[in-house]
Amino acid sequence: MVNRRDFLKICAAIGTAATIELYSADIRDIFTQAIEAHAQGDNVRLIWLAGAQDTGCTVSLLQGSDPDLIDVITKFRLQLDFHQTLMIPEGEAAIKKLEDIVNDKSRVDVLIMEGAIPEGYFCTVGEIDGQPVPIEDWVKQIGGRAKYNIAVGQCAAYGGIPAAKPNPTNCRSLSEVLPDKTVINIPGCPPNPDWMTLAFAQALQGLPIELDEVGRPAAIFKETVHEGCPLLGYYEEGIFAKTLDGPGCLYKLGCKGPLARADCTVRRWNQGLNSCTTAGGCKACVEKGWPDEPFAPFYEEAAEIPPSAALGINPILIAGAATGAAAVGAVAYAEHRRRKHKKEAKKEASA
Ligand code: SF4
Repeated sequence: MVNRRDFLKICAAIGTAATIELYSADIRDIFTQAIEAHAQGDNVRLIWLAGAQDTGCTVSLLQGSDPDLIDVITKFRLQLDFHQTLMIPEGEAAIKKLEDIVNDKSRVDVLIMEGAIPEGYFCTVGEIDGQPVPIEDWVKQIGGRAKYNIAVGQCAAYGGIPAAKPNPTNCRSLSEVLPDKTVINIPGCPPNPDWMTLAFAQALQGLPIELDEVGRPAAIFKETVHEGCPLLGYYEEGIFAKTLDGPGCLYKLGCKGPLARADCTVRRWNQGLNSCTTAGGCKACVEKGWPDEPFAPFYEEAAEIPPSAALGINPILIAGAATGAAAVGAVAYAEHRRRKHKKEAKKEASA
């Protein structure tokens, strides 16, 4: 059986679909270990709550093809006890699933949150004794009992569009509502289905997942979208597109690929067909603080690099590129690459 370190290396090196295909027995063992840890039942019990959102994350997960959602649920013996879009029970029968957990009549292993969490009665789910129940209350009660808390999508991970300024409903992320719990963030608007599947598999290893400084699995959200972009050659040559259908790099038309860390351009979307940089430009929807500045306006050059981006890019040079000189952009990237290679060479020499 592969150990955790090897598993993460494999996940980082190849796509999730391939990982699951090649190592399905090992991943199944991982899930089995988690199941055995629970004396009360055989399945991993999941609650999927939805707050301020548009169901895009669920739709994205349903688009996963290898494995698809049915594969994930059946192969890994997941029991989806509550999902307002996918579940068969409705009305009181549906809400009873949540009440049973809150009343300790049923257990929950994993809480998956989709959407931001507004304050109080701005968002309610079901009723108890004729009183609407704020989603915030369900999240605190159920998330407090769950072994794993996973935020899927930009809104659950960081607040996203519902929390954009001025945020009149005080929308918050899952980690803001559960400050004492470890939350695994799978951002994106929506997230790639592979990211979600991989996170579910990793979460149930029963071991801590390596997260970056904003709570994302480090193996997926490591390199910038820019670094794997098929239009990078144009950027390096200082050739910038005048229209969204090119030819040229889309940086001056608002692409925020240099600000975004995710493997979109390498893993790709729609069964490997494309990603945002070949369909109008990256909007950096995986980053904390999106969609406010510096990620907005969407169709204008980035005015500044957020300190949290920590991309290893010289911000002064990139700011120079943003003011209009294409050649400076190329210099900025050359500088970034020079630093990166220097760092790698240093690492190799000390190994
Ligand atoms: Fe690709 Fe955007 Fe980077 Fe240009 S700025 S190379 S379009 S990621």
